[in-house]
Order: sequence, then C-alpha cells, then structure tokens
Amino acid sequence: MFSEKLLNELNEQIKYELYSANYYLAMAAYCAAEGMDGFANFFVVQAEEERFHAMKFFHFINEMGGRAQIRGLDEPKNEYNSLEEIFTLSLNHEKFVTGRIYFLMDMAQDEREHATISFLNWFIDEQVEEEASMSDLLHKVKMLGSQGQGIFMLDRELAQRSFTPPAK
Ligand code: MG
Repeated sequence: MFSEKLLNELNEQIKYELYSANYYLAMAAYCAAEGMDGFANFFVVQAEEERFHAMKFFHFINEMGGRAQIRGLDEPKNEYNSLEEIFTLSLNHEKFVTGRIYFLMDMAQDEREHATISFLNWFIDEQVEEEASMSDLLHKVKMLGSQGQGIFMLDRELAQRSFTPPAK
C-alpha cells in the first residue's frame, strides 16, 4: 500500500490530467472558431484522452483501497494567436506532465511500491507518444506556416482522429 504522501500526489495527478483535458478543450475552441475543424477535432480527442488518464488514476487509487479526491482546477488559457503558439504550449505542457509522472515514479520507487511502479510504467510510455505527437505537429505547422494548402491538408488529416480507449 502506498503512503499518504504518495496517495496525495496520485490525487494531485487526477487534477493535472483533468486540467490537461480543459486546456486542450480551450485550444479546440480556438481552432473551431478559426474554422479549422480538423485541428479542433484533434484537441477534442486529446481532451478525451486526458479524461481517460484521469480515470485511470481514479480507478487505480480505488483498487488500491485509497480514497480518490476531486480537486479544484485553474482556468486554462483561452486566448491564442496561432497554431504554432498552440502546439508550442501543448509540447511544453506534455513535458511538464512527463516531469510529474517521473516525480511520481521516483516517489513510488523510494517507497518500493511495486503496484504503483507497474501502474506508472504505462504513463511513462504514454508520455513518450504524447510528446512525440505534439512535437511532430509543431514541426509540421512551423514548416507549413499559418495558411495555405498544406494546413488545409493537415486539417483534413486531423479530422480523422478518433478516441479509442486502449485495451488494458
Ligand atoms: Mg495525460
């Protein structure tokens, strides 16, 4: 069983994952308002993924016999100026979340809390993908500039993204 200290940080992570969902929804709203429905779809799906992450922590805490807590969220940034800004912020945010997961893993390892270590391994792998996908899109958006055929094609491609909860 994890310590109260680790339980508290796992509960903090529910908050960060739900905050991530709201942050990406705010970005989706910007894209939708700019007429970029594919990019909006990408961020709506991203928000669904973040809620799924939050629920993974919620269920894990319950399964371990701990008490999950739902904590207050800060308001995310709602004003944006460009796709480049959005993907720069998204990549920075995912790097921050990776830091959080590493912090949790360090704590679980200090406690030799093997169930939590095993649980967090999924998130270590997930963060590699999250950073790679934001980094890839930032690179593409920078290359293509803010308008034109390239962005239109990328918007169409991102419209295809859908959320499928991964098998456990
Ligand atoms: Mg996440």
